[in-house]
Amino acid sequence: MENVIIIGSGPSGHTAAIYAARANLKPLMFEGLFAAGVAAGGQLTTTTDVENFPGYMAISGPELMVKMREQSEHCGTRIVTDTVEKVDLSKSPFQVFVGDQVYETQSLIIATGATAKRMNLPGEDRLWQKGVSACAVCDGGLPFFRNKVLAVVGGGDSALEEATYLTKFASKVVLIVRRDVLRASKVMQERAKHNSKIEILFNTLPLEILGDKSVIGLKIKNTLTNAESILDVGGLFYAIGHVPNTAFLNGQVEVDEVGYIKTKPGTTQTNVPGVFAAGDVQDKVYRQAITSAGTGCMAALDAERYLSH
Ligand code: FAD
Ligand code: NDP
Repeated sequence: MENVIIIGSGPSGHTAAIYAARANLKPLMFEGLFAAGVAAGGQLTTTTDVENFPGYMAISGPELMVKMREQSEHCGTRIVTDTVEKVDLSKSPFQVFVGDQVYETQSLIIATGATAKRMNLPGEDRLWQKGVSACAVCDGGLPFFRNKVLAVVGGGDSALEEATYLTKFASKVVLIVRRDVLRASKVMQERAKHNSKIEILFNTLPLEILGDKSVIGLKIKNTLTNAESILDVGGLFYAIGHVPNTAFLNGQVEVDEVGYIKTKPGTTQTNVPGVFAAGDVQDKVYRQAITSAGTGCMAALDAERYLSH
C-alpha cells in the first residue's frame, strides 16, 4: 500500500514528488511512456530554451526536466516509466491500474498536464519551434520573432491574450479567425480591437506554413470566397485550445465543460477526498512551468495534511 501515488512527470509532478519525498511519504511516480503523445518530463521536453524559470537565465527544456527528475529521485521518489491506464476512486484505498499491475494508495496526485492542440498543417513538423509555436508567453520573446509580422490562429481568450502579448515584440500581429465572430470575452475583444498593432482576419483558415528553416509565410484561404493568398509572416502561433489529459479518469473526478479538473479554490483538492490535482491539468489560465511547480508543491502539502488526519 502506497501513501501517495503521483501520476505525471512535468514540473507539477516532480515538484509534488520532491515535497512528498522530503516529508517521508515515499512517493511512487508514474512518469508516463509517451502518455498523451508527450515524453516523460512533459511539455518542456518539446521546447528549446526556457528563459523564465527562476534560477536559470536560460536552460533547455529537456535539460530542466532531467534535473527535476534527478532531484525527485535524489529525495527518494520511486519512478516507474509507464502510463496509468485507469483508476478506481470509488473507495479508499484507491486503485491505480498500470499494464497488468494494480497499485493501492491512500492518496493520489494527478499531474498529467494538458496538450496544446495543433493543426497538423503542411510545414508544421518541419518548422515546429523554428517559428511555429503554441505558446506566445513561452516563445514570443525569442530573438527571431522580434519586429516581424506574426500570425496567431484562434478567436478565443487565449488567442487574444497571446496576440496582445506578441505586440510587445512584433511589428504587427495578424489574428486568423475561422468564423465571422470572436469567441473571446468582450473585455478581451475590446482590448484587442483598440490595439493598433493587431489586425483581425475573419472567415480565414491557414492552409500551409511556408519556409525551409524558418517561417517566411502562410498560405491562407477566405472561407466565404475560397480565395487563397499568401500572408508574409515570420512566425505562427496556435491558440486553438488545449486538451487536458483527464480521459483516463473516466468521469470519477469532477471536471469542467472542457475537461479540466475542478479544484477547491486556493487548494489542490478535488471533489474526491484524498485525490489532488496539480499543474496544467487543473489550470486553463496560467499554464506555465512555474505555476505548475507551485501547485505541485501545494498538492504534496495537501496530501501530507490529508494523510496525517
Ligand atoms: P506536463 O508538462 O504537461 O506534463 C504532464 C506529464 O504527464 C507528461 O509527461 C505526460 O506524458 C504525463 N502523463 C499524462 N497522462 C499520463 C498518464 N495517464 N500516466 C502517466 N503519465 C501521464 N512554460 C514556461 O514556464 N516557460 C516556457 O518557456 C515554456 N515553454 C513551453 C514551450 C512549449 C512548446 C510548450 C508546449 C509549453 C511550454 N510551457 C512553458 C508551458 C509548460 O511546459 C507547462 O505549463 C508545464 O509543462 C505544465 O506542467 P505539468 O506538470 O502540469 O504537465
Ligand atoms: P477556446 O476553446 O475558448 O477557443 C478556441 C478558439 O480557437 C476558438 O475561437 C475556435 O474557433 C478556434 N479554433 C479551434 N479549433 C480551430 C481550428 N482547427 N482552426 C481554426 N480555429 C480553431 O480556447 P482558449 O484556449 O482560448 O480558452 C480556453 C478557456 O480558457 C476558455 O474558457 C477561456 O475563457 C479561458 N481563458 C481565459 C483567459 C483569461 O481569463 N485571461 C485566458 C485564456 C483562456 P470557434 O470559436 O469557431 O470554435
